[in-house]
Amino acid sequence: MRKAFVAGNWKMNLTKNEAGVLARGLAAKAGVFGGVEVGVIPAFVHLDAVRAGLEGSPINLGAQDVYFEKNGAFTGEISTAMLLDMGVKCVLVGHSERRHVLGETDALCNKKVHAVINAGLTCILCVGEKIEERQANQTFNVCKTQLVEGLKGVDKSRAGQLVIAYEPVWAIGAGLTATKEQAQEVHKYVRGELAKIFDQATADGLRIQYGGSVKASNAGELMSQPDVDGALVGGASLKVEEFLGIITAAASKR
Ligand code: PEP
Repeated sequence: MRKAFVAGNWKMNLTKNEAGVLARGLAAKAGVFGGVEVGVIPAFVHLDAVRAGLEGSPINLGAQDVYFEKNGAFTGEISTAMLLDMGVKCVLVGHSERRHVLGETDALCNKKVHAVINAGLTCILCVGEKIEERQANQTFNVCKTQLVEGLKGVDKSRAGQLVIAYEPVWAIGAGLTATKEQAQEVHKYVRGELAKIFDQATADGLRIQYGGSVKASNAGELMSQPDVDGALVGGASLKVEEFLGIITAAASKR
């Protein structure tokens, strides 16, 4: 049985003080998580304040990105060692905003995936199609390429450190959500591709989060789908009650 995993991507939002308040507000509610794994993913500069706010709670601290080199002359970048030093447990790789706003390629994502897992961290690899790709019936092909290229060279013994987030780009921050049928269709496809990359048992154990305008009001039907194992949440993770509603929906799944 896969443990549901709900992670909140705070993106480039909040002041340090606001991030600490939000972290403390969530930590205070950890008693109602109902067996769901929960993570919050603040901006780099807020990691320390959020770590302090989460202290003593089971909430995982995450990072929105990382650079693949260990250290050196890479101005503006952040290493896995720096993230470990901050108490980070999981790292997003290939979020659509990094792919499509900042131009990250599958090859770069693959280097980051290796850096993250080699550091002993959990990697949340994000995949998903743009609207024109969905309209051209390319959804499966896009996800397949992002999975195959992103996971190139990753041994199945490392699968326990991997989480996949299926995030249709057209649904992120747009108020548009995939229907539960659309989500399930792609999640099932993704699991099938993971079985080809690793093997069926490994794929069956891997968690696949859905992301794209998940809210407390639509989380229940998305989580009802057999291959949807949690959520990667943007906007709705900035409000304690809304985020808790999503966690509760994930808890009722299992
Ligand atoms: C995201 O940032 O990964 C995301 C899914 O954002 P939102 O929930 O705001 O669509």
